[in-house]
Amino acid sequence: MKDLIPLSVPVIKGNEWKYVKDCLDTGWVSSVGAYVDRFEEQMAKLAGRKYAIACVNGTSALHMAFLVAGIKADEEIVMPTLTFAAPAFAARYIGAWPVFIDVEPDHWQMDINKLSEFLEKECRYTGGRLVNRHTKRTVRAILAVHVLGHPVDMDELLGLSRKYGLLVIEDVAESIGAKYHQQSTGSFGDLACFSFNGNKVITCGGGGMIVTDDKKMAQRIKHLTTQAKSDPIEYLHDEIGFNYRMTNVQAAIGLAQLENLDEYIVLKKKIAGIYDRHLKKIKGLSLPQQAPGAESIWWLYTVLVDKAVFGKDSRALMKSLAVAGIQSRPLWCPLYKLAPFKDCYAFKIAVVDRLYEQALSLPSSVNLSAEDLQRVIKAIK
Ligand SMILES: *Cc1c(COP(=O)(O)O)cnc(C)c1O
Repeated sequence: MKDLIPLSVPVIKGNEWKYVKDCLDTGWVSSVGAYVDRFEEQMAKLAGRKYAIACVNGTSALHMAFLVAGIKADEEIVMPTLTFAAPAFAARYIGAWPVFIDVEPDHWQMDINKLSEFLEKECRYTGGRLVNRHTKRTVRAILAVHVLGHPVDMDELLGLSRKYGLLVIEDVAESIGAKYHQQSTGSFGDLACFSFNGNKVITCGGGGMIVTDDKKMAQRIKHLTTQAKSDPIEYLHDEIGFNYRMTNVQAAIGLAQLENLDEYIVLKKKIAGIYDRHLKKIKGLSLPQQAPGAESIWWLYTVLVDKAVFGKDSRALMKSLAVAGIQSRPLWCPLYKLAPFKDCYAFKIAVVDRLYEQALSLPSSVNLSAEDLQRVIKAIK
């Protein structure tokens, strides 16, 4: 068998070795250090924010964002039903509940029309609170997940958040550097969360970041992620804290990766362009589309496979590609179907099930060679 072409792997080619060596040489390997500070500064800049707080992964970033936003147990956070499960888990960590909204068929993001309909028809104001009439829980926030590197329609979403007085938190785990009307994802919400897991566009090995313009929230996040220690020397803690700190070694890798982000995004776009050109003529494949005003970073290039026309379904294609040494993956099981979320309200689910059945993500690493790309394209053909 030829060499395996993986779905999405980190590419280490910049200052990673130099910065990590610096950590090792100086002994600054643990939970504080200059690289953490520099990485935070650079991420605040990238997102156009006043504050950035590094943490241990994207899931903990979401946990902290929900917590400092003041969302309480038994309140609800509206989110798309098509996403990696981390934001729904994070909601449950604080005792809050996800509400799942269907996705639209064109760009596979949360359907803003359905979101609007949910807020308008299924919620009502009771004592100044917006209450979901099915669950009797208060709706507090909208989580905008920019899925697969493509931005959500933020104008519409922010309009709804203002109309209903809801907080907006962005999940930018898959879309670092993506733009919506020339504005960076991560710059829109009250808070925004990034992930630097190994399969993301840039990585720290593992890591996360929360950005915001709110000084109080930023200070509280730093406090909570560092065990809520309230005295520099004495072991005094003024609330329940978390050990969610990013280490200096992780930040050293992340900073070096961030230096290459622009180049990586150019490469991601190039890969998407090549897939577009070669796959568009294949009957039974639908290719990912970019919405007007959106600038996707094409984190993963995902196609839809129509079995009736293509001749096999997405899972059969995945198996055939595996035989040819090519890794591909389905999208996430719609969250409303999963056991841990069976008690959550889901609104007008219709589109997502077909997407789940038909979607297949193709190799999208930034170091994918022209030769490997052709191997994937030929195998699909
Ligand atoms: C990867 C991912 C996360 C979680 O990030 P981790 O760093 O793996 O904890 C959260 N949300 C989305 C949409 C993701 O893709």
